[in-house]
Amino acid sequence: MSQKPKAGTQAVWSGEKEVLVHHATQVPVIVSVAYNYDDMDEWYDVAIGKKPGHIYGRNTNPTVQAFEDKVKTLEGADDATSFSTGMAAISNTLYTFLTPGDRIVSIKDTYGGTNKLFTEFLPKIGVEVALCTTGDHEAIEEEVAKGCKILYLETPTNPTVKITDIERMAKAGHAAGALVVVDNTFATPINQHPLSLGADLVLHSATKFLGGHADALGGVVCGSRELVEQIYHYREINGASLDPWAAYLLLRGMKTLKLRVLQQAKSAMAIAKLLQKQEWVDDVFYPGLESHTNYDIAEKQMDGFGAMLSFSLKGGMDSVKILLPALKYANRAANLGAVETTYGPARTTSHVECTAKERKAMGIPDGLIRISVGIEDTEDLVADLEQAFEKLNQSQLLTLQE
Ligand SMILES: *Cc1c(COP(=O)(O)O)cnc(C)c1O
Repeated sequence: MSQKPKAGTQAVWSGEKEVLVHHATQVPVIVSVAYNYDDMDEWYDVAIGKKPGHIYGRNTNPTVQAFEDKVKTLEGADDATSFSTGMAAISNTLYTFLTPGDRIVSIKDTYGGTNKLFTEFLPKIGVEVALCTTGDHEAIEEEVAKGCKILYLETPTNPTVKITDIERMAKAGHAAGALVVVDNTFATPINQHPLSLGADLVLHSATKFLGGHADALGGVVCGSRELVEQIYHYREINGASLDPWAAYLLLRGMKTLKLRVLQQAKSAMAIAKLLQKQEWVDDVFYPGLESHTNYDIAEKQMDGFGAMLSFSLKGGMDSVKILLPALKYANRAANLGAVETTYGPARTTSHVECTAKERKAMGIPDGLIRISVGIEDTEDLVADLEQAFEKLNQSQLLTLQE
């Protein structure tokens, strides 16, 4: 019986055994900054990497390693290294491989912080950035064919959950000799495996679904040993290391990753269908709806459609100000991926850095609301949203506007 365990089993068991002590069943939080060696030769061998072990907390830590090993197993990768935040994972990965004169191709709809790297910081060190319209595969192929060091993708995207074909883009990237990097935060390793679709590196803001409880920040990147070692080396010097307390919270959260994601996706679909029927709603964006522009790609490359959706509300911010406060089972907050359902308008969450004009140019209306569906009972979430729309109806704003 040597059948490979499935994701739910891996999320519970993998990465832990090596770190357990005193017959404990749970991973210890090892806070030691440094490690003591009586044997000078052993110390030296560990320090130069000849023997496994730990030397100093900025480099490695047993609790942190358990977290890295769990994620790497779920992503089907040889190796993983972790970071203090998701943005540290992204910036350290990019800065490991990019030098002045290099070119990077990506899409316009990446996470706000990632977009800032592309528009503000990478140009500063002389890296040329080409940002293509998200979902326009031909445009990405054209840009990649002109030559680039990295093709950077995120799918589904924030906040309008656009989908990019990873397999097709990985082929284009490799034909041009580029490294293909995918931010898999929204999909999670339960729903999408970029490495098996041809990507070289997959990364996460572990702050979101991996941790799942909105109580710890972290980031992680997975891929081949050769690539991850280079990123690890940059990170150990750069210093954006994951704290062991945070690593423990992320590890504990990850044990229920599959249960959470399955429940969240079930509710997300029910909410998407409810939103489609609302006269207050112009558009619903969820990759699980057949009306989604790239439903066929999502169906092909994802095992589930995830917990993230968004919709545009008629009446802009005036309506948002009535609908969101009326919700009972929702945080109105900037994060996502938590056990609690979280609502937020794009203008104060994913695209807070942009002006109203910029958001409009990106196809993000003022009334766009992002939902990160939590693990509450589906019926309660649906009923809650229904009663909030009822409040909106009573406001007669719609009739006033017509
Ligand atoms: C939140 C997020 C990040 C950044 O992660 P932090 O942990 O906040 O630094 C990157 N990518 C995506 C898709 C995110 O949602």
